[in-house]
Amino acid sequence: MQRVPMLSVQPKGKQKGCAGCNRKIKDRYLLKALDKYWHEDCLKCACCDCRLGEVGSTLYTKANLILCRRDYLRLFGTTGNCAACSKLIPAFEMVMRARDNVYHLDCFACQLCNQRFCVGDKFFLKNNMILCQMDYEEGQLNGSFETQVQ
Ligand SMILES: [Zn+2]
Ligand SMILES: [Zn+2]
Ligand SMILES: [Zn+2]
Ligand SMILES: [Zn+2]
Repeated sequence: MQRVPMLSVQPKGKQKGCAGCNRKIKDRYLLKALDKYWHEDCLKCACCDCRLGEVGSTLYTKANLILCRRDYLRLFGTTGNCAACSKLIPAFEMVMRARDNVYHLDCFACQLCNQRFCVGDKFFLKNNMILCQMDYEEGQLNGSFETQVQ
């Protein structure tokens, strides 16, 4: 993650040009971030337009975007690893949760018969596998699951 400190400085010497609007900064204070100078009004989040100088002293950049912390996390943060496919889940994606596990929506299915669950359907977690009720009960009968030691 690219966290960039932002400083509020008083201009000294020659007037600086703003990296946002390219005009000279005549204000009493200016912001310094990414080795550039900005009007307080010009350093804004590319997503929500909030004035970063007011939000805090840190901004985030990625792929030439300047973002506030909230939008950065929403766009580029991660929720964790999917318990089924073990790939990272980006923070903006919808997930399913079961106990401490998170799953991609697409991965949230019975890991034996691939049946997807609908709202209200029962699912079971056994040895960290998601199971539909049928497979769970079958497993119980056959005794093919180790008993989980807590
Ligand atoms: Zn400006
Ligand atoms: Zn924002
Ligand atoms: Zn997954
Ligand atoms: Zn199943």
